[in-house]
Amino acid sequence: MAQKENRQISLQNDFEEVISNKLSEIRVCETSVQEPSLEIPLQYAKSSNNSYLPWHDYFMSLCYLTAARSKDPNTKVGACIVDKDNRVVSMGYNGMPRGIKDNDLPWSKTGAHSYDTKYPYVCHAEMNAILNERHTTLDDCSLYVSKFPCCECAKLIIQSGIKRVVFSELKPDPWEEQVPTRKMFSLAGVSCRKFIPTIHQLSLNVTDGVGSVSITK
Ligand SMILES: [Zn+2]
Repeated sequence: MAQKENRQISLQNDFEEVISNKLSEIRVCETSVQEPSLEIPLQYAKSSNNSYLPWHDYFMSLCYLTAARSKDPNTKVGACIVDKDNRVVSMGYNGMPRGIKDNDLPWSKTGAHSYDTKYPYVCHAEMNAILNERHTTLDDCSLYVSKFPCCECAKLIIQSGIKRVVFSELKPDPWEEQVPTRKMFSLAGVSCRKFIPTIHQLSLNVTDGVGSVSITK
């Protein structure tokens, strides 16, 4: 038994010696490494600028870019859904239902019958953005959209769990047609506010496969 105890003490001493040696090596290393300077080198400071997109402008820009996919000759709308960590969850634009060719149904705003117009058929941007996301919950997300949501999309927005809506343009509809949307959002606790841009212009240039974005504030 005494022999076993002695062996344990010996092992412990060996272990402590190894640790002690390692610590002294580390201390040597620590003192040999120079502390990095926290000052920003002049060349970096000079090259930095403020031409980045703030979050709200970024999300609304995505809406307008997505709207450019729409085949509607009169009204192009884009929507973008963002989670609470500012991650883009989904996007959508107005178009005909999935599987129907773009020209199989009318795009006109007027016709002999209501079913000769686009209105009974077109899926709105908000609807497509909501239905395009199938893997993540939309609870507590925000929806950016380039035009004020109609009352049908307002119902979808509420039922999907989205809590904030930011729209850019009011449609030229009479005020009465906005009332149901505003009333439902208010009662359901969905905030709805107009987008206030902080940038003036955003230009995307792609020449010979080389892209650049210029921002004017
Ligand atoms: Zn709608």
